Parts: sequence; C-alpha cells; structure tokens
Amino acid sequence: MRMSSMYLKTLREVPAEAEIPSHIWLLRAGMIRKLVSGVYGFMPLGFKSLRKIEEIVREEMDNSGAQEILMSAIQPAELWQESGRWYAYGPEMFRLKDRSQREFCLGPTHEEVFTDIVRNEVDSYRQLPLNLYQIQTKYRDEQRPRFGLMRSREFIMKDAYSFDRDWEGLNRSYQIMYDAYTRIFNRCGLTFRAVEADTGAIGGSDSHEFTALSEYGESEIAYCDSCDLAATTERAACVDDKYAEEALLAMEEVATPGTKAIEEVAKFLNVDMKKTLKALLFEVFDQDYRFVAVFIRGDRELNMTKLVNALNIPEHAIQFADEVAMGAETGCVGGFTGPMGLHDCKILVDTEAAAAPNLVAGANKVDTHVLNVNYGRDYTADIVTDLKLIKAGDACPKCGAPVKITRGIEVGQVFKLGTKYSAAMGACYKDENMQEQTMVMGCYGIGISRTLAAIVEQNHDEDGIIWPMAVAPYHVIVTLINKDDDAQAKLGEDIYRHLRSAGVEVLLDDRKERPGVKFKDADLLGIPLRITVGKKAAEGVVEYKLRKEKESCDMQWDAAAEAAIRLVRESL
Ligand code: ATP
Ligand code: MG
Repeated sequence: MRMSSMYLKTLREVPAEAEIPSHIWLLRAGMIRKLVSGVYGFMPLGFKSLRKIEEIVREEMDNSGAQEILMSAIQPAELWQESGRWYAYGPEMFRLKDRSQREFCLGPTHEEVFTDIVRNEVDSYRQLPLNLYQIQTKYRDEQRPRFGLMRSREFIMKDAYSFDRDWEGLNRSYQIMYDAYTRIFNRCGLTFRAVEADTGAIGGSDSHEFTALSEYGESEIAYCDSCDLAATTERAACVDDKYAEEALLAMEEVATPGTKAIEEVAKFLNVDMKKTLKALLFEVFDQDYRFVAVFIRGDRELNMTKLVNALNIPEHAIQFADEVAMGAETGCVGGFTGPMGLHDCKILVDTEAAAAPNLVAGANKVDTHVLNVNYGRDYTADIVTDLKLIKAGDACPKCGAPVKITRGIEVGQVFKLGTKYSAAMGACYKDENMQEQTMVMGCYGIGISRTLAAIVEQNHDEDGIIWPMAVAPYHVIVTLINKDDDAQAKLGEDIYRHLRSAGVEVLLDDRKERPGVKFKDADLLGIPLRITVGKKAAEGVVEYKLRKEKESCDMQWDAAAEAAIRLVRESL
C-alpha cells in the first residue's frame, strides 16, 4: 500500500478519553475511532490487524474440527425465556421490540441460539460430537464501558459450542479447545496464563479463563510458585486461619462511641482485626427475601462472586442496602451491626469467622459493640460458607505456601456447560438403543477485539505500538526520505515491488512529509521492520531497522530485502 493514498490519520496528542496504553496507541495510530461510549469502529490498519487475529482463530478452530457458521445478532426473547436467562442476564442485555411489540435482544452471547439450531437438526448419536463456531459482533450494555476495545458495548467475539453424547465426550471437546486456545494466544504473541475461573452468568461447572498478563487487566489472578494453583481471585478457594484452643468467654457489651468502621473499633478496643466480626448489608431484588447481612472477619474482604453464588442469584439482583431502610425491617444499626437479634433477613457467615472464638461484633445498638461473640452459642446463620476474597500471602488452597496475586486481561474463556442449556431447551439425541439422551455441552469464547487491545497492551514503548509479526497490519514499511529524488524513488519502488512479489505485506511511505514525521509515524504504527531509502540510494544502500530494537544498520538493498523476507517467513 502506498501511504500517499492511504486513509490514515495519526494523532499527535493523547485523546482525553484514553487512560491506558492500548487505548491511547490504538487511537493515536488511527487504528480505531470512537462513535459513542463503548462503541468503536476499525480504521484500515486496525481492521487489518483485527482480521489477522480472526484468521489465526479461524485456522486453529478449523484444525480442531470445529465448523464455522454465522448466526444473527438479533435474537428472540422466547429462547432466553426457555433457558431462564431473560431475567438472569439483567441490564447488560440490549433489549428491543419490533413494530408488533415482540421482544428481542442483541445477542450478548449465543448459547440459546446454537442450542436451538442443534436441537432442531440433530437427533442421532451418529451426528455427535459437534463443535460449531462463529466470529460475530456481540452487544453488552456494560455498566462501565472503558479502556477502548477492552470493555466495550459492541465487540467482536469468537464463540464456539460443543455438543457431545456424554461427559467423557465433553471432557475431550473441552481439552481440544483448551489446546487450540493455547496455540491461538501463542501465535498472537501474548504472554498469558490459563487459570481456573468462575462460571458466572453462563452457568455450568468447570471453566478456565485465558488471561493476558497486564497491570491494566481487570482480572485478578491468584497463583502459587510451589504448586500449579492458578485461579481468578473470584474463583480461588480460601484457607481458613486456624485458631489456638481458647475458652469461650461470656459476652459483654462495651461502649464504642462514634467508632463505626471495623478498623476504628479494633483500635479503640485494642484488639487484633482478626478478632473482630465485620457486617456487610445488602438488598436483593425479585427474591422471597429482601435483605442480607454478611459477616466476615474484620480484616477480610468479601468476595462478591462467592456471595451471589451462595445466594444463587444473578449479580445484578443485589446491591448495598440503605442502612436506615434495612434497620427498620431487620433491627440492624448502621456501623454497629452484629449478628445477634437480627431478624427478617438472610444471614451469611464466612466459615473462618464462624470458627473464630471470642470476636468483637456490633451490638445492633448505637455506639455499642459486644465482646466474646461466638458462632453457634450466640448466633446462627442461614448459610455458613467461604465468602472471602483471597489476597497476596494467604495460604495456597492446594499446598499451603503463600499465594501471589497478579493482574491480567481476560482474552478468552472455556466452560463445561454440561446439560444446563440442553436440558432446559430439550436438546436431545437417540443413542444406539434408541433411548433419548440429553446432549452435554461446552462453550468457548474469545474476545477478538479485546485480544487486539491486549496485544498492544503487551507490545508498545514510549513511541507507539510494536506489533508481533503475525498480527501486524503490514510486515515492512519502506520509508522514502525524499520522494522527489529520482534514485530514492526508484529504489523504494523496486524494494516495494520485490517484497510484495515475495508475499510480504509492505507500506511504502511515499508521502510528501518531513523525514521526522515519517519516522514518528512508522514507530507509532508499530510496523515490525523499517527499510529506509535515503541519501545512499544511488549506491543501492538502505537502512534496516527492527521496530523493537534501537539500532539500525546499513545494507545493500537486495540483502535487506532478503533479510526482510526471511524474517517475515520465520515469524509467521
Ligand atoms: P468480563 O468478565 O470481562 O466481563 P465475561 O466473562 O463476561 O467478560 P465471556 O462471556 O466469557 O465474557 O465472553 C467471552 C470473551 O469475550 C471474554 O473472554 C472477553 O475476551 C470478551 N468480552 C467479554 N465482554 C467484553 C466486552 N465488554 N468488551 C470486549 N470484549 C469482551
Ligand atoms: Mg468470561
């Protein structure tokens, strides 16, 4: 492509909306443009890289025996009502009505649609296993769209759905996808980890998230250097601290004027935070109860995923309670809430807090706490379960060594759905004995546009993007220092043609711009290799420079071209 006629607008300034490197560089390099919050368009260079990611995904999916189809983005509400997710999916779903008031949504995911296709067309064990996938636009009305392509409201996803006869089959299909994902993200040049994950709104049993390591990632990962533990912090089980035997003491009310936060209470009473019980108050919607009080040890943080899983409600059906409203109904007192005497609410206690002896808790009286509160003797709960968020240094749930925490970007996720959708929607087949069986399903997503952002997040410097060859919009940029110099123009043209005929994707910077501008743009765009044609063109000498290295070297043009061809072939 000749840059003189290319549609490209690079930006010198950092756009005000962009907070993280990938967002900044993709905008500055003219690869994406925002339409409205969370909705982006792809410009020519961004679209080329996006297509390359899609092609890698497509190749690996096809090689794994999956077959590509393309379903509509628009989906009828009835399918989601059948699976029970029309309500469960909540406000993230874009909903719409047609002219005769029939309800639809813009698909945030396609379990229902694929299950519907397969239940109507597959009826024999001979047609299984089956893995169908698509690369298609998804819609999610995210509460906080941000970071450009990372968390957007319209995005491109590869979603695949496997259908097997039984769990054994699903385990095989799952492993095939797991391996394909590993190859895909390696080919995309990402540094990533596959970690155990929660199954969230999708449902099902086992799941792994593929997470590109990055400080700006929204996923938190707990891992262990002594064993193979790697899980999202949402998912990671916590090990309870063990307490030394201690005689249970009598409860005693103490005045704690004005001390509400648990840190203040511990300080005021001069007790360790580990000897306190903290209350968190919630209101839930559309359930047969309205308020929830959660108790965990004062120094711990609540894991919201574990809480909604314990309550078996969707995430959107819970929020922090208004303390006054909740107090009027349940007897809690904001800042002084304890588990004793609470009524008309669901009480949940973390296992560790339930086992800890003689804790300080709120007295449900203004300016008052109670010493020596013990689970079982002084209060009980509706649910006692692990509700803690794992933190760095906590004991590894597998081996006991201290865990570490890191951050990453979830680029893909695989799920064993089991029969959640097939049972609800009647996706069945007849086995060898003509017995009707329920299909066992898996689903497998990759955020294609988010992967583009993750690649930039991991591959940039202070001058711009540094594309890995496999996903670079072009492999080589040939920069003409002076396009009006005949020797330079001719040599540039020769190299351009030569590389193109060898299958190399080349940009020829033949724009009427100063050399400084051209170099800055080449760095900003992140083309992996630059060949500069300048003053020594008459001698056939050019400058050869890799984007990721500081040094350049002079070479005869044909040697430079050969080196470029070799480099491109080796890295694809
Ligand atoms: P998240 O936890 O980040 O909201 P998710 O777990 O809801 O994502 P999945 O339903 O597993 O997402 O979707 C499959 C893939 O689609 C994700 O792994 C991610 O790469 C991508 N994805 C999900 N939501 C978005 C979004 N809002 N913008 C861009 N990509 C997304
Ligand atoms: Mg996910």
